[in-house]
Amino acid sequence: MIVVRTLLVVGALLLVAAVLGLFDRPVIALWILITGLCSVIVYNTVYVAKLHHWSGLPRNRELPLGIGAWGQTLDRISRFMRQDALERSGTSAELERLHAAVDLLPDGLVVLDRFDHVQWSNRAAQRIHGIFGTRRPIDHFVRQPEFLDYLRANDFSEAIALSLPSQPGRVFSMKIEPTVDAFRLLITRDITEASLLEQVRRDFVANVSHEIRTPLTVVSGFVETLMEIEMPPQEQVRCLELIKRQTATMERLVEDLLTLSSLESANLQAETTEVAIGPMLQTLVADSRVFSAGRHKIDLTVDAVESVRGVSNELDSAIRNLLTNAVRYTPEGGSITASWRVVDGEGVLAVTDTGIGIAAEHLPRLTERFYRVDRGRSREMGGTGLGLAIVKHVAQRHHARLEIDSRIGAGSTFRLRFPKSLVVMPTRTQRPVSLADADADADADADADSDANADYAGTVSPSP
Ligand code: ADP
Repeated sequence: MIVVRTLLVVGALLLVAAVLGLFDRPVIALWILITGLCSVIVYNTVYVAKLHHWSGLPRNRELPLGIGAWGQTLDRISRFMRQDALERSGTSAELERLHAAVDLLPDGLVVLDRFDHVQWSNRAAQRIHGIFGTRRPIDHFVRQPEFLDYLRANDFSEAIALSLPSQPGRVFSMKIEPTVDAFRLLITRDITEASLLEQVRRDFVANVSHEIRTPLTVVSGFVETLMEIEMPPQEQVRCLELIKRQTATMERLVEDLLTLSSLESANLQAETTEVAIGPMLQTLVADSRVFSAGRHKIDLTVDAVESVRGVSNELDSAIRNLLTNAVRYTPEGGSITASWRVVDGEGVLAVTDTGIGIAAEHLPRLTERFYRVDRGRSREMGGTGLGLAIVKHVAQRHHARLEIDSRIGAGSTFRLRFPKSLVVMPTRTQRPVSLADADADADADADADSDANADYAGTVSPSP
Protein backbone atom coordinates (compact mmCIF):
# COMPACT_ATOMS: atom_id res chain seq x y z
CA MET A 1 0.00 0.00 0.00
CA ILE A 2 2.75 2.43 0.99
CA VAL A 3 4.77 1.52 -2.10
CA VAL A 4 1.78 1.99 -4.46
CA ARG A 5 0.89 5.32 -2.87
CA THR A 6 4.49 6.54 -3.00
CA LEU A 7 4.77 5.52 -6.64
CA LEU A 8 1.48 7.30 -7.41
CA VAL A 9 2.71 10.49 -5.68
CA VAL A 10 6.08 10.34 -7.52
CA GLY A 11 4.21 9.69 -10.80
CA ALA A 12 1.94 12.69 -10.17
CA LEU A 13 4.96 14.94 -9.44
CA LEU A 14 6.69 13.84 -12.64
CA LEU A 15 3.49 14.51 -14.62
CA VAL A 16 3.11 18.03 -13.15
CA ALA A 17 6.79 18.78 -13.82
CA ALA A 18 6.50 17.49 -17.41
CA VAL A 19 3.40 19.68 -18.10
CA LEU A 20 5.11 22.76 -16.64
CA GLY A 21 8.23 21.98 -18.77
CA LEU A 22 6.05 21.91 -21.89
CA PHE A 23 4.75 25.38 -21.00
CA ASP A 24 8.29 26.78 -20.68
CA ARG A 25 8.37 26.80 -16.85
CA PRO A 26 11.43 24.58 -16.22
CA VAL A 27 12.46 26.27 -12.94
CA ILE A 28 8.99 25.93 -11.38
CA ALA A 29 8.77 22.33 -12.67
CA LEU A 30 12.15 21.44 -11.11
CA TRP A 31 11.21 23.18 -7.83
CA ILE A 32 7.91 21.26 -7.55
CA LEU A 33 9.64 17.97 -8.43
CA ILE A 34 12.45 18.42 -5.85
CA THR A 35 10.11 19.68 -3.11
CA GLY A 36 7.62 16.86 -3.75
CA LEU A 37 10.28 14.12 -3.80
CA CYS A 38 11.89 15.53 -0.64
CA SER A 39 8.48 15.53 1.11
CA VAL A 40 7.91 11.86 0.10
CA ILE A 41 11.37 10.88 1.41
CA VAL A 42 10.95 12.83 4.67
CA TYR A 43 7.42 11.38 5.24
CA ASN A 44 8.63 7.78 4.81
CA THR A 45 11.86 8.32 6.73
CA VAL A 46 10.00 9.84 9.69
CA TYR A 47 7.70 6.82 9.97
CA VAL A 48 10.51 4.29 9.53
CA ALA A 49 12.38 6.13 12.31
CA LYS A 50 9.25 6.16 14.54
CA LEU A 51 8.75 2.40 14.00
CA HIS A 52 12.40 1.74 14.69
CA HIS A 53 12.18 3.73 17.94
CA TRP A 54 8.93 1.90 18.95
CA SER A 55 10.48 -1.53 18.32
CA GLY A 56 13.09 -0.75 21.02
CA LEU A 57 10.44 0.13 23.67
CA PRO A 58 8.87 -2.35 26.18
CA ARG A 59 6.27 -4.68 24.65
CA ASN A 60 3.12 -3.00 25.90
CA ARG A 61 3.84 0.50 24.45
CA GLU A 62 1.34 1.94 21.98
CA LEU A 63 2.29 2.14 18.30
CA PRO A 64 2.89 5.70 16.97
CA LEU A 65 -0.11 7.32 15.23
CA GLY A 66 0.18 7.85 11.51
CA ILE A 67 -1.39 9.71 8.66
CA GLY A 68 -1.94 8.71 5.07
CA ALA A 69 -0.64 5.32 3.96
CA TRP A 70 1.42 4.96 7.12
CA GLY A 71 -1.70 5.68 9.22
CA GLN A 72 -3.51 2.72 7.65
CA THR A 73 -0.48 0.45 7.95
CA LEU A 74 0.08 1.33 11.61
CA ASP A 75 -3.64 0.78 12.35
CA ARG A 76 -3.36 -2.66 10.79
CA ILE A 77 -0.24 -3.57 12.80
CA SER A 78 -1.90 -2.37 15.98
CA ARG A 79 -5.03 -4.49 15.24
CA PHE A 80 -2.84 -7.58 14.73
CA MET A 81 -1.09 -6.87 18.01
CA ARG A 82 -4.37 -6.58 19.91
CA GLN A 83 -5.56 -9.92 18.45
CA ASP A 84 -2.27 -11.56 19.40
CA ALA A 85 -2.48 -10.18 22.96
CA LEU A 86 -6.03 -11.49 23.27
CA GLU A 87 -5.01 -14.95 22.08
CA ARG A 88 -2.07 -14.99 24.45
CA SER A 89 -4.18 -13.97 27.43
CA GLY A 90 -6.74 -16.67 26.51
CA THR A 91 -3.98 -19.28 26.40
CA SER A 92 -2.50 -18.20 29.70
CA ALA A 93 -5.96 -18.20 31.38
CA GLU A 94 -6.45 -21.72 30.08
CA LEU A 95 -3.03 -22.71 31.40
CA GLU A 96 -3.90 -21.23 34.77
CA ARG A 97 -7.17 -23.16 34.89
CA LEU A 98 -5.26 -26.32 34.02
CA HIS A 99 -2.73 -25.68 36.80
CA ALA A 100 -5.54 -25.03 39.30
CA ALA A 101 -7.23 -28.32 38.29
CA VAL A 102 -3.96 -30.30 38.48
CA ASP A 103 -3.34 -28.74 41.91
CA LEU A 104 -6.64 -30.22 43.10
CA LEU A 105 -5.56 -33.76 42.19
CA PRO A 106 -4.80 -35.95 45.20
CA ASP A 107 -1.90 -37.53 43.29
CA GLY A 108 1.50 -35.86 43.29
CA LEU A 109 2.76 -34.87 39.83
CA VAL A 110 6.33 -33.76 39.14
CA VAL A 111 7.72 -32.91 35.70
CA LEU A 112 11.38 -33.92 35.49
CA ASP A 113 13.87 -32.88 32.81
CA ARG A 114 16.45 -35.15 31.20
CA PHE A 115 18.74 -34.72 34.24
CA ASP A 116 15.90 -35.60 36.66
CA HIS A 117 15.67 -32.04 37.87
CA VAL A 118 12.26 -30.76 38.97
CA GLN A 119 10.73 -28.56 36.29
CA TRP A 120 7.29 -28.26 37.79
CA SER A 121 5.28 -29.89 40.59
CA ASN A 122 1.67 -29.76 41.72
CA ARG A 123 0.54 -29.00 45.25
CA ALA A 124 0.11 -32.68 46.25
CA ALA A 125 3.71 -33.45 45.21
CA GLN A 126 4.94 -30.44 47.19
CA ARG A 127 3.01 -31.66 50.24
CA ILE A 128 4.04 -35.32 49.95
CA HIS A 129 7.71 -34.84 49.04
CA GLY A 130 8.33 -31.35 50.47
CA ILE A 131 9.26 -30.08 46.99
CA PHE A 132 9.84 -26.35 46.68
CA GLY A 133 11.06 -24.30 43.73
CA THR A 134 12.39 -25.80 40.52
CA ARG A 135 15.63 -26.98 38.95
CA ARG A 136 16.68 -29.00 42.00
CA PRO A 137 17.37 -32.72 41.46
CA ILE A 138 14.46 -34.97 42.50
CA ASP A 139 16.74 -37.06 44.73
CA HIS A 140 17.16 -33.93 46.83
CA PHE A 141 13.53 -34.46 47.94
CA VAL A 142 12.99 -38.23 47.60
CA ARG A 143 15.97 -40.01 49.09
CA GLN A 144 14.58 -43.53 49.59
CA PRO A 145 17.10 -46.09 48.26
CA GLU A 146 14.23 -47.98 46.52
CA PHE A 147 13.34 -44.84 44.60
CA LEU A 148 16.96 -44.05 43.71
CA ASP A 149 17.43 -47.62 42.41
CA TYR A 150 14.21 -47.26 40.40
CA LEU A 151 15.44 -44.00 38.92
CA ARG A 152 18.84 -45.46 38.05
CA ALA A 153 17.49 -48.72 36.61
CA ASN A 154 15.65 -46.67 33.98
CA ASP A 155 12.93 -49.33 33.68
CA PHE A 156 9.65 -47.62 34.39
CA SER A 157 7.23 -50.33 33.24
CA GLU A 158 6.10 -50.95 36.84
CA ALA A 159 5.34 -48.66 39.76
CA ILE A 160 7.16 -49.08 43.07
CA ALA A 161 5.44 -49.03 46.47
CA LEU A 162 7.21 -47.39 49.38
CA SER A 163 6.64 -45.52 52.60
CA LEU A 164 8.02 -42.03 53.11
CA PRO A 165 9.51 -40.79 56.39
CA SER A 166 7.57 -37.52 56.01
CA GLN A 167 4.25 -39.44 55.87
CA PRO A 168 4.39 -42.05 58.63
CA GLY A 169 1.93 -44.92 58.41
CA ARG A 170 1.07 -44.29 54.77
CA VAL A 171 2.05 -46.25 51.67
CA PHE A 172 2.68 -44.62 48.29
CA SER A 173 3.05 -45.93 44.78
CA MET A 174 5.51 -44.02 42.58
CA LYS A 175 5.71 -44.34 38.82
CA ILE A 176 7.62 -42.49 36.14
CA GLU A 177 5.93 -41.96 32.78
CA PRO A 178 7.83 -40.63 29.76
CA THR A 179 6.22 -37.51 28.25
CA VAL A 180 7.21 -35.28 25.34
CA ASP A 181 10.88 -34.77 24.45
CA ALA A 182 13.13 -35.88 27.28
CA PHE A 183 10.68 -34.81 29.98
CA ARG A 184 9.24 -37.37 32.41
CA LEU A 185 6.31 -37.29 34.76
CA LEU A 186 6.69 -38.68 38.28
CA ILE A 187 3.29 -39.72 39.67
CA THR A 188 2.94 -40.37 43.41
CA ARG A 189 -0.29 -41.98 44.63
CA ASP A 190 -1.39 -42.68 48.21
CA ILE A 191 -2.30 -46.39 48.22
CA THR A 192 -2.61 -46.84 51.99
CA GLU A 193 -6.29 -47.84 51.90
CA ALA A 194 -5.82 -50.15 48.92
CA SER A 195 -2.83 -51.87 50.51
CA LEU A 196 -4.73 -52.29 53.80
CA LEU A 197 -7.62 -53.86 51.88
CA GLU A 198 -5.16 -56.09 50.07
CA GLN A 199 -3.69 -57.14 53.42
CA VAL A 200 -7.20 -57.87 54.80
CA ARG A 201 -7.95 -59.92 51.68
CA ARG A 202 -4.72 -61.90 52.01
CA ASP A 203 -5.34 -62.53 55.72
CA PHE A 204 -8.89 -63.59 54.95
CA VAL A 205 -7.82 -66.10 52.30
CA ALA A 206 -5.10 -67.44 54.63
CA ASN A 207 -7.64 -67.75 57.48
CA VAL A 208 -10.25 -69.50 55.35
CA SER A 209 -7.63 -71.92 54.00
CA HIS A 210 -6.44 -72.62 57.51
CA GLU A 211 -9.99 -73.09 58.85
CA ILE A 212 -10.79 -75.56 56.09
CA ARG A 213 -7.48 -77.36 56.21
CA THR A 214 -7.78 -78.25 59.92
CA PRO A 215 -11.02 -80.31 59.71
CA LEU A 216 -9.96 -81.63 56.32
CA THR A 217 -6.75 -83.03 57.80
CA VAL A 218 -8.76 -84.71 60.55
CA VAL A 219 -11.21 -86.19 58.03
CA SER A 220 -8.51 -87.51 55.71
CA GLY A 221 -6.63 -88.96 58.71
CA PHE A 222 -9.69 -90.87 59.88
CA VAL A 223 -10.54 -92.05 56.37
CA GLU A 224 -7.01 -93.40 55.95
CA THR A 225 -7.24 -95.14 59.32
CA LEU A 226 -10.57 -96.70 58.41
CA MET A 227 -9.16 -97.93 55.11
CA GLU A 228 -5.91 -99.30 56.45
CA ILE A 229 -6.64 -100.62 59.93
CA GLU A 230 -9.03 -103.36 60.90
CA MET A 231 -11.03 -102.12 63.90
CA PRO A 232 -14.06 -103.25 65.85
CA PRO A 233 -17.46 -101.86 64.71
CA GLN A 234 -17.80 -99.50 67.74
CA GLU A 235 -14.44 -97.93 66.93
CA GLN A 236 -15.50 -97.52 63.31
CA VAL A 237 -18.69 -95.76 64.40
CA ARG A 238 -16.66 -93.44 66.62
CA CYS A 239 -14.37 -92.58 63.70
CA LEU A 240 -17.35 -91.94 61.42
CA GLU A 241 -18.92 -89.71 64.06
CA LEU A 242 -15.74 -87.67 64.29
CA ILE A 243 -15.68 -87.38 60.50
CA LYS A 244 -19.29 -86.23 60.58
CA ARG A 245 -18.46 -83.57 63.19
CA GLN A 246 -15.61 -82.20 61.09
CA THR A 247 -17.69 -82.09 57.91
CA ALA A 248 -20.45 -80.33 59.84
CA THR A 249 -17.86 -77.72 60.93
CA MET A 250 -16.81 -77.21 57.31
CA GLU A 251 -20.46 -76.92 56.28
CA ARG A 252 -21.06 -74.28 58.95
CA LEU A 253 -17.96 -72.40 57.83
CA VAL A 254 -19.13 -72.34 54.22
CA GLU A 255 -22.62 -71.27 55.31
CA ASP A 256 -21.22 -68.45 57.45
CA LEU A 257 -18.94 -67.34 54.63
CA LEU A 258 -21.90 -67.24 52.24
CA THR A 259 -23.97 -65.31 54.79
CA LEU A 260 -21.16 -62.77 55.25
CA SER A 261 -20.68 -62.34 51.54
CA SER A 262 -24.42 -61.84 50.93
CA LEU A 263 -24.49 -59.32 53.81
CA GLU A 264 -21.71 -57.39 52.14
CA SER A 265 -23.22 -57.40 48.69
CA ALA A 266 -27.02 -57.28 49.05
CA ASN A 267 -29.04 -54.08 49.06
CA LEU A 268 -31.00 -53.72 52.30
CA GLN A 269 -33.70 -51.37 51.01
CA ALA A 270 -34.93 -53.91 48.47
CA GLU A 271 -35.87 -56.65 50.94
CA THR A 272 -37.09 -55.04 54.15
CA THR A 273 -40.30 -56.18 55.81
CA GLU A 274 -41.79 -55.79 59.27
CA VAL A 275 -40.03 -58.46 61.28
CA ALA A 276 -41.90 -59.58 64.40
CA ILE A 277 -39.04 -59.98 66.85
CA GLY A 278 -41.16 -61.64 69.60
CA PRO A 279 -42.22 -64.70 67.58
CA MET A 280 -38.80 -64.89 65.96
CA LEU A 281 -37.10 -64.94 69.38
CA GLN A 282 -39.41 -67.63 70.55
CA THR A 283 -38.47 -69.92 67.67
CA LEU A 284 -34.78 -69.18 68.13
CA VAL A 285 -34.91 -69.75 71.89
CA ALA A 286 -36.58 -73.08 71.23
CA ASP A 287 -33.76 -73.97 68.82
CA SER A 288 -31.13 -72.97 71.37
CA ARG A 289 -32.81 -75.20 73.97
CA VAL A 290 -32.41 -78.08 71.55
CA PHE A 291 -28.77 -77.11 71.02
CA SER A 292 -28.20 -76.84 74.78
CA ALA A 293 -29.81 -80.28 75.28
CA GLY A 294 -30.93 -79.37 78.79
CA ARG A 295 -27.52 -78.24 80.02
CA HIS A 296 -28.71 -74.64 80.55
CA LYS A 297 -31.76 -72.78 81.81
CA ILE A 298 -32.87 -70.62 78.89
CA ASP A 299 -35.50 -67.89 79.45
CA LEU A 300 -37.23 -65.52 77.12
CA THR A 301 -38.77 -62.17 78.04
CA VAL A 302 -40.74 -60.29 75.43
CA ASP A 303 -41.96 -56.93 76.71
CA ALA A 304 -42.88 -55.34 73.41
CA VAL A 305 -45.07 -56.14 70.43
CA GLU A 306 -43.19 -53.77 68.16
CA SER A 307 -41.56 -55.14 65.04
CA VAL A 308 -38.34 -54.08 63.37
CA ARG A 309 -38.31 -52.96 59.78
CA GLY A 310 -35.54 -55.11 58.35
CA VAL A 311 -34.51 -58.29 56.62
CA SER A 312 -35.98 -61.30 58.38
CA ASN A 313 -33.33 -63.91 57.58
CA GLU A 314 -30.51 -61.52 58.50
CA LEU A 315 -32.04 -60.71 61.89
CA ASP A 316 -32.70 -64.41 62.40
CA SER A 317 -29.06 -65.17 61.64
CA ALA A 318 -27.74 -62.47 64.02
CA ILE A 319 -29.94 -63.51 66.96
CA ARG A 320 -29.23 -67.19 66.32
CA ASN A 321 -25.48 -66.50 66.51
CA LEU A 322 -25.87 -64.63 69.81
CA LEU A 323 -27.92 -67.45 71.33
CA THR A 324 -25.59 -70.17 70.01
CA ASN A 325 -22.57 -68.33 71.46
CA ALA A 326 -24.34 -68.00 74.82
CA VAL A 327 -24.90 -71.77 74.86
CA ARG A 328 -21.34 -72.49 73.67
CA TYR A 329 -19.59 -70.28 76.18
CA THR A 330 -21.77 -70.97 79.23
CA PRO A 331 -20.78 -73.99 81.28
CA GLU A 332 -23.41 -76.61 82.13
CA GLY A 333 -25.91 -75.43 84.75
CA GLY A 334 -25.60 -71.78 83.74
CA SER A 335 -28.52 -69.65 82.62
CA ILE A 336 -29.24 -67.65 79.51
CA THR A 337 -31.91 -64.98 78.99
CA ALA A 338 -33.09 -63.51 75.72
CA SER A 339 -35.22 -60.38 75.83
CA TRP A 340 -36.98 -57.89 73.55
CA ARG A 341 -38.01 -54.47 74.88
CA VAL A 342 -38.63 -50.99 73.62
CA VAL A 343 -36.86 -48.29 75.64
CA ASP A 344 -37.41 -44.63 74.69
CA GLY A 345 -38.55 -45.75 71.26
CA GLU A 346 -35.43 -47.83 70.63
CA GLY A 347 -35.83 -51.58 70.21
CA VAL A 348 -33.47 -53.46 72.52
CA LEU A 349 -32.73 -57.10 71.91
CA ALA A 350 -30.47 -58.65 74.52
CA VAL A 351 -28.92 -62.06 75.13
CA THR A 352 -27.43 -62.46 78.61
CA ASP A 353 -25.54 -65.45 79.91
CA THR A 354 -23.77 -66.47 83.08
CA GLY A 355 -20.92 -67.98 81.08
CA ILE A 356 -17.14 -67.68 81.00
CA GLY A 357 -17.17 -63.96 80.12
CA ILE A 358 -14.66 -62.07 78.00
CA ALA A 359 -11.66 -60.03 79.18
CA ALA A 360 -11.93 -56.32 78.35
CA GLU A 361 -8.90 -56.32 76.05
CA HIS A 362 -10.65 -58.70 73.62
CA LEU A 363 -13.87 -56.70 73.30
CA PRO A 364 -12.73 -54.25 70.58
CA ARG A 365 -11.62 -57.09 68.27
CA LEU A 366 -14.41 -59.54 68.98
CA THR A 367 -16.40 -58.80 65.80
CA GLU A 368 -13.39 -59.27 63.48
CA ARG A 369 -13.62 -62.26 61.22
CA PHE A 370 -11.99 -65.34 62.74
CA TYR A 371 -11.08 -63.54 65.97
CA ARG A 372 -11.45 -65.85 68.93
CA VAL A 373 -10.51 -65.43 72.56
CA ASP A 374 -9.75 -69.11 72.90
CA ARG A 375 -9.23 -70.79 69.54
CA GLY A 376 -9.20 -74.32 70.94
CA ARG A 377 -12.42 -73.86 72.88
CA SER A 378 -14.19 -72.26 69.91
CA ARG A 379 -13.18 -75.18 67.66
CA GLU A 380 -14.18 -77.72 70.25
CA MET A 381 -17.59 -76.03 70.46
CA GLY A 382 -17.94 -76.06 66.66
CA GLY A 383 -17.47 -72.29 66.28
CA THR A 384 -16.41 -70.83 62.95
CA GLY A 385 -15.07 -67.51 64.27
CA LEU A 386 -17.51 -65.68 62.01
CA GLY A 387 -20.61 -65.46 64.23
CA LEU A 388 -20.02 -62.02 65.70
CA ALA A 389 -18.76 -60.68 62.35
CA ILE A 390 -22.18 -61.64 60.97
CA VAL A 391 -23.92 -59.99 63.94
CA LYS A 392 -21.91 -56.80 63.39
CA HIS A 393 -22.77 -56.69 59.67
CA VAL A 394 -26.46 -57.28 60.32
CA ALA A 395 -26.41 -54.53 62.98
CA GLN A 396 -24.73 -52.10 60.60
CA ARG A 397 -27.21 -52.83 57.83
CA HIS A 398 -30.08 -52.16 60.26
CA HIS A 399 -28.42 -49.03 61.69
CA ALA A 400 -28.40 -50.82 65.02
CA ARG A 401 -25.71 -50.58 67.72
CA LEU A 402 -24.08 -53.74 69.02
CA GLU A 403 -23.17 -53.38 72.72
CA ILE A 404 -21.18 -55.97 74.62
CA ASP A 405 -20.91 -56.03 78.42
CA SER A 406 -18.85 -58.82 79.84
CA ARG A 407 -16.89 -59.82 82.90
CA ILE A 408 -14.56 -62.77 83.11
CA GLY A 409 -16.23 -65.57 85.06
CA ALA A 410 -19.50 -63.61 85.51
CA GLY A 411 -21.01 -63.75 82.02
CA SER A 412 -21.84 -61.54 79.08
CA THR A 413 -24.65 -59.48 77.63
CA PHE A 414 -24.85 -58.84 73.90
CA ARG A 415 -27.32 -56.10 73.02
CA LEU A 416 -28.65 -54.94 69.65
CA ARG A 417 -30.22 -51.45 69.82
CA PHE A 418 -32.45 -50.69 66.85
CA PRO A 419 -33.11 -47.01 66.09
CA LYS A 420 -36.59 -45.52 66.64
CA SER A 421 -37.04 -45.10 62.90
CA LEU A 422 -36.94 -48.89 62.36
CA VAL A 423 -39.12 -49.88 65.33
CA VAL A 424 -42.76 -50.03 64.21
CA MET A 425 -46.10 -51.21 65.53
CA PRO A 426 -47.08 -54.26 63.48
CA THR A 427 -49.71 -53.56 60.85
CA ARG A 428 -51.12 -57.05 61.38
CA THR A 429 -52.76 -57.25 64.84
CA GLN A 430 -50.95 -59.67 67.09
CA ARG A 431 -52.47 -61.65 69.88
CA PRO A 432 -50.80 -60.80 73.20
CA VAL A 433 -50.01 -64.04 74.94
CA SER A 434 -48.88 -64.69 78.47
CA LEU A 435 -47.16 -67.90 79.22
CA ALA A 436 -46.07 -68.28 82.79
CA ASP A 437 -42.80 -70.10 82.73
CA ALA A 438 -40.70 -70.40 79.62
CA ASP A 439 -38.72 -73.27 81.07
CA ALA A 440 -41.83 -75.31 81.65
CA ASP A 441 -42.51 -75.08 77.96
CA ALA A 442 -39.03 -76.04 76.93
CA ASP A 443 -39.96 -79.46 75.68
CA ALA A 444 -43.01 -78.23 73.84
CA ASP A 445 -40.93 -75.44 72.29
CA ALA A 446 -38.32 -77.90 71.17
CA ASP A 447 -40.99 -79.93 69.41
CA ALA A 448 -42.44 -76.88 67.75
CA ASP A 449 -39.09 -75.18 67.14
CA SER A 450 -39.68 -74.58 63.48
CA ASP A 451 -43.15 -73.16 63.96
CA ALA A 452 -42.75 -69.42 63.59
CA ASN A 453 -46.33 -68.76 64.64
CA ALA A 454 -46.06 -70.44 68.00
CA ASP A 455 -47.18 -68.47 71.04
CA TYR A 456 -44.74 -66.16 72.79
CA ALA A 457 -42.79 -67.55 75.69
CA GLY A 458 -42.81 -64.74 78.21
CA THR A 459 -45.07 -61.79 78.67
CA VAL A 460 -46.08 -59.75 75.69
CA SER A 461 -47.47 -56.32 76.29
CA PRO A 462 -47.51 -53.11 74.30
CA SER A 463 -44.60 -50.87 75.21
CA PRO A 464 -45.39 -47.58 76.89
P1 ADP B 1 -17.06 -68.44 67.33
O1 ADP B 1 -17.61 -69.18 66.18
O2 ADP B 1 -15.66 -68.80 67.67
O3 ADP B 1 -17.97 -68.45 68.51
P2 ADP B 1 -17.79 -65.67 67.14
O4 ADP B 1 -17.44 -64.64 66.14
O5 ADP B 1 -19.21 -65.98 67.31
O6 ADP B 1 -16.92 -66.94 66.80
O7 ADP B 1 -17.22 -65.17 68.53
C1 ADP B 1 -15.90 -64.75 68.60
C2 ADP B 1 -15.31 -65.08 69.96
O8 ADP B 1 -15.98 -64.29 70.94
C3 ADP B 1 -15.52 -66.49 70.40
O9 ADP B 1 -14.51 -67.34 69.89
C4 ADP B 1 -15.48 -66.38 71.89
O10 ADP B 1 -14.14 -66.38 72.31
C5 ADP B 1 -16.04 -65.00 72.15
N1 ADP B 1 -17.47 -65.06 72.54
C6 ADP B 1 -18.54 -64.86 71.76
N2 ADP B 1 -19.69 -64.94 72.46
C7 ADP B 1 -19.33 -65.18 73.74
C8 ADP B 1 -20.06 -65.37 74.97
N3 ADP B 1 -21.40 -65.31 75.01
N4 ADP B 1 -19.36 -65.60 76.08
C9 ADP B 1 -18.01 -65.65 76.05
N5 ADP B 1 -17.26 -65.49 74.95
C10 ADP B 1 -17.91 -65.26 73.79
